[in-house]
Amino acid sequence: MSQGEHTAVAQSGQDVSSPSLSNKNSKQESSLFPTYARYPVALVKGKGSWLWDDQGKKYLDFMCGLAVTNLGHAPDVVAERLKQQIDELWHVSNLFHIPGQEQAAALLTANSCADAVFFCNSGAEANEAAIKLARRYHQKVKGTGRYEVITFTQSFHGRTLATLTATGQDKVKEGFTPLPAGFKSVPLHDVDALENAIGDHTAAIMLEMIQAEGGVYPVQPEFVQHIVKLCKEHGLLLIIDEIQTGMGRTGKLFAFEHYGIEPDIFTVAKGIGSGFSVGAMLGKGYLKEAFTAGSHGSTFGGTPLAMAAVNATVETIVSENLPERAASMGAYLMEKLESRFAKVPFVKEIRGKGLLIGMECAGPVGDIVLAGQSKGLLFVTAGPNVIRLLPNLYVTEAEIDLCVDMLAELISSHVQGLEKESNHE
Ligand code: PLP
Repeated sequence: MSQGEHTAVAQSGQDVSSPSLSNKNSKQESSLFPTYARYPVALVKGKGSWLWDDQGKKYLDFMCGLAVTNLGHAPDVVAERLKQQIDELWHVSNLFHIPGQEQAAALLTANSCADAVFFCNSGAEANEAAIKLARRYHQKVKGTGRYEVITFTQSFHGRTLATLTATGQDKVKEGFTPLPAGFKSVPLHDVDALENAIGDHTAAIMLEMIQAEGGVYPVQPEFVQHIVKLCKEHGLLLIIDEIQTGMGRTGKLFAFEHYGIEPDIFTVAKGIGSGFSVGAMLGKGYLKEAFTAGSHGSTFGGTPLAMAAVNATVETIVSENLPERAASMGAYLMEKLESRFAKVPFVKEIRGKGLLIGMECAGPVGDIVLAGQSKGLLFVTAGPNVIRLLPNLYVTEAEIDLCVDMLAELISSHVQGLEKESNHE
């Protein structure tokens, strides 16, 4: 035991020989598993587009908890509903009817091509439900024994064993073998590879309309039409992962609406609860008979408290037509970025839709993200060379102007630093 630990234990008045809580906490090391390479910032308060850290420093938030706080931080309309619900009822088992769930499902199906909803707690769980539903539909309803799901290279679908296997990035799979059977990834936009991958066991094709974690790559419309055609020809289900693109972010309530298609199944999470942890899998009516009582479930999926957050969030997104606002503010942000960086060779391409924008740069951007934090601007990467911007759907022109000015300064000093380095070599 170090001197420091001794002092802490002595001051706490605990018995040094027993493994007490304060004995453990006296260690300087964190008691968390180090699964995240955390930034050196502790955020403690948020409102709208702004966050404050534990030192009182203010940040303009252009990452929104990674596409979660679509209504901004601590939106009054959701806070009010949650406070009311906290005084009424937090949790009941899904063995009972939960009126808030029926209400949220009715709202989501009235505003999409889906007819049925299953509520869970996260994006990965929503995708698990989608994969399970696709298998069960083929096996129990169609009697075909199909199970395989085809996904795309660079996709991201979650961190559970099935969803990391579905994910088309090897880095999330390392050290987790054996992976579950029944998944294949093919390169995006490669029609031949996709056609060759389809076989007797294929149950579904699953994709994001914009590969967000993979680098902000929108899927080409012709490729999407081809997928739809192949699904029809081969009797496959089309699953769209809307976990990052959904809830208005791309300028439509769901990004597949840009493509004029109707998936059999789609999944949402992140933006659906304004920060309350909730996910949902939505599907067409003909899939209902595959998910009979006892076939799938979740203790916490769709609790009254979670549904209060979802109902307040979705009602607001729909009634205030926030997808349209995301489209126009996204166009404004894109125009500002394009004009500001047109003559900056370090910025190679700016792409995305609505308020999900990626700036592909000529080198790693991790240091720019850190420099942004020290200046009071929060954004993230999407792969090593891409800056990803995800402001909330209420973002103002003034906030966008400020973000673009700060980014211009950050990128210019980054480029100057690189030039200095290369002159010294
Ligand atoms: N799918 C997509 C497209 C995502 O962006 C994410 C998370 O970033 C997930 C699935 C997994 O969601 P969760 O982290 O809530 O499990």
